Amino acid sequence: MEKKRVVIKIGSSSLQHPETGKIDFLKMERLVRELCDLRNRGLDVCLVSSGAIAAGRMFMGIKELPMHIAKKQACASVGQARLMMTYQKLFAEYHQTAGQVLMTKNTMLDHVSRKNAQNTFEELFALGVIPIVNENDTVSTYEIQFGDNDTLSALVASLVSADLLILLSDIDGLYTDDPHSHPDAELIENVDVIDETLLHMAKESTGSDVGTGGMATKLTAAKIATKSGADMIIANGKDAGILHRIFEGNYVGTLFHSHYDEDFYISDFIEETL
Ligand code: GLU
Repeated sequence: MEKKRVVIKIGSSSLQHPETGKIDFLKMERLVRELCDLRNRGLDVCLVSSGAIAAGRMFMGIKELPMHIAKKQACASVGQARLMMTYQKLFAEYHQTAGQVLMTKNTMLDHVSRKNAQNTFEELFALGVIPIVNENDTVSTYEIQFGDNDTLSALVASLVSADLLILLSDIDGLYTDDPHSHPDAELIENVDVIDETLLHMAKESTGSDVGTGGMATKLTAAKIATKSGADMIIANGKDAGILHRIFEGNYVGTLFHSHYDEDFYISDFIEETL
């Protein structure tokens, strides 16, 4: 697969041990190694990583769920810093530099903020840095939050004019039905048009209950990415090795083909849809 700039989104469930909810360092290490290898192939790489709230909750030993908003934000404050500390350490082992970019809906809606963010990303790529993006959960309340990193990663892909967005999920891709309850459900390998039938299938199939993104948010992400001129792939994040397999054309997943739409404006889409 010939690509120049890729955005990769990893969900909380792919970064933690399901039994304890604690960070799975082996998975995180493999992910970082794969990302560094993509950099070494000459690609601009951007990671959108969830897991701040979960990491903070674990570190603070908070058992109760659901948490009220201020507590979630406090957990994000602690967790985001810890997450970055771990990423920095792992990236340094492979001689790569990671930078942190935290965004809210306003970053995308406000023309000046959006332009600033775009310039920052360009500069980071020019410096060879791998930006690690998350929502600024500590300050983003209901009015200004995206809520899920599927949508955020698609907006980032659009902002940086990426040619590929990869959503690493806890499922192999988009199925015709919920594969947990319908073993005969089939994986859809290629999507050219996001139509009503597909939206219906997405409603039927499930996502994880750890992160916030289900299949419906992944289709919203696919709309944003493909209209912005990027292909989008949903693949299983249980083994980060899927990343090099994607570039070798040997992977299991769902590929949404890009259809650049010159009338697609991010800020209009956010205001109308999100
Ligand atoms: N921004 C949230 C976090 O880092 C996660 C959102 C999501 O899972 O989509 O904890």
